[in-house]
Amino acid sequence: MTGTTGGAVTTGGALPGGEYDVTVVGAGVVGTAIARELARLPLRIALVDASDDVGDGTSKANTAILHTGFDAVPGSLESRLVREGHRLLSAYAAETGIPVEPLGALLVAWDEEQLAALPGLARKAVRNGHRSARIIPAEEVRAREPRLGPGALGALDVPGESIICPWTTTLAYATQAVRTGVDLHLNCRVQDITSDGTRTPTTLTTNRGALRTRHLVNAAGLYADAIDRLLGHADFAVTPRRGQLIVFDELARGLVRHILLPVPGALGKGVLVSPTVYGNVLLGPTAEDLDDRTDTGSTAEGLALLREKGRRILPALLEEEVTAVYAGLRAATGDEDYAIRAHPAQRYVTVGGIRSTGLTASMAIAAHVVELLAEGGLPVAGTRDLVPVRMPNLGEAFLRPYRDAELIARDPEYGRIVCHCERVTRGEIRDALASAVPPGSPDGLRRRTRARGGRCQGFHCGAAVRALFEEARR
Ligand SMILES: Cc1cc2nc3c(=O)[nH]c(=O)nc-3n(C[C@H](O)[C@H](O)[C@H](O)COP(=O)(O)OP(=O)(O)OC[C@H]3O[C@@H](n4cnc5c(N)ncnc54)[C@H](O)[C@@H]3O)c2cc1C
Repeated sequence: MTGTTGGAVTTGGALPGGEYDVTVVGAGVVGTAIARELARLPLRIALVDASDDVGDGTSKANTAILHTGFDAVPGSLESRLVREGHRLLSAYAAETGIPVEPLGALLVAWDEEQLAALPGLARKAVRNGHRSARIIPAEEVRAREPRLGPGALGALDVPGESIICPWTTTLAYATQAVRTGVDLHLNCRVQDITSDGTRTPTTLTTNRGALRTRHLVNAAGLYADAIDRLLGHADFAVTPRRGQLIVFDELARGLVRHILLPVPGALGKGVLVSPTVYGNVLLGPTAEDLDDRTDTGSTAEGLALLREKGRRILPALLEEEVTAVYAGLRAATGDEDYAIRAHPAQRYVTVGGIRSTGLTASMAIAAHVVELLAEGGLPVAGTRDLVPVRMPNLGEAFLRPYRDAELIARDPEYGRIVCHCERVTRGEIRDALASAVPPGSPDGLRRRTRARGGRCQGFHCGAAVRALFEEARR
């Protein structure tokens, strides 16, 4: 079935009355992917988030790698969903214009112990369904990465590991969900939930009033355990694991050709060097277990640790200018797998513990969650086509508006540059401000256009960008 009217996007005031068939709490990359998948159903769907924008939690601050899942725990739910998610998101990115560059990864061994770990990792890759990973000797590593620091003893070559734009991914899901009919309610924090455990609708108490829903999905990221407790479940607890990163200027991009991964240790994937689709180079992340779920600050110790590790991997990188530093919080649970649980009696699904692979796995998680909802009685018959979307390109490997003579001839606004560092045009800013899911702040506008994201961090264009933002708001 085709033919849909778009959903509403609200940012304040009372919520619409009546009853939703399904409500998804949390509009990160996971919640938006679920809302998009649900949009296929001819039902009344809501997506709510406490923030003023989609993708404003962990989903905006990660290392932006589309993982193959070669190093997941074989047989785990995460292994299956990452592998499937990689396939689904690669295809979706091509269809919608999300920038992806399949650079491949080299997992570099720097000592004998790490070298000895490579055959085990290669076998693990095979158990995870990746037959193309192979061990390469030191000479080949050097030939493929000439600027690598001295002392690399060999590497596991993992084709298929890719870099992706995490912001466009979340926005594509949200845009497609809304355009196909999902209602998106922002600035809407779920504070309490009333469910008597029977098949009557659940009532969510939010700062914008009550919302009634027949089925509920908890995709609240770092707060998924808190939402779970409101419904009487306490089978996992989130410990925020901070990952600090350094972004190097685009002049560093020529130093590195692959995603350079370390051999993983006990605290996760370790510190990597990776290009971004925007043409920068990332160094990070750290892995620090914290108590505070809001502490996305960078620390002198964290950045010093990254610089020390980075100096060994790619010494010339440390001579380059730093554009920015940032940190994201992984929703770690102490378990090596996702905490996705169905509670059919409450018509409720928890999507917890989506730690360090949620961007990659998002579409597969969404399909899995809809299956679980169906087992809990969600009617899934009579699916309709999603409204097609084509996202603005933020990637350097693809044609950007300021370089597109034909586009500029048709609409000169694409030839008027506002942000010179990132070469963002008035046309792109205008489009983002008028889009189906518009930004709630200049920071949200940056995630849609890259404006203010370059080496001057908005020093030159900040006022002009803010003026355009304020004007659109009026
Ligand atoms: C440093 C770092 C590096 C990473 N690198 C990668 C990578 O390279 N590749 C990869 O695939 N993954 C990576 N990840 C993991 C990935 O970023 C996460 O798995 C993913 O973003 C999780 O998305 P989410 O939607 O579950 O959570 P979030 O993005 O945090 O979304 C949850 C949303 O719920 C909302 N919310 C919370 N409580 C409430 C409430 N009470 N009411 C309403 N709304 C609420 C929040 O506002 C938030 O927007 C990385 C993570 C980190 C931190």
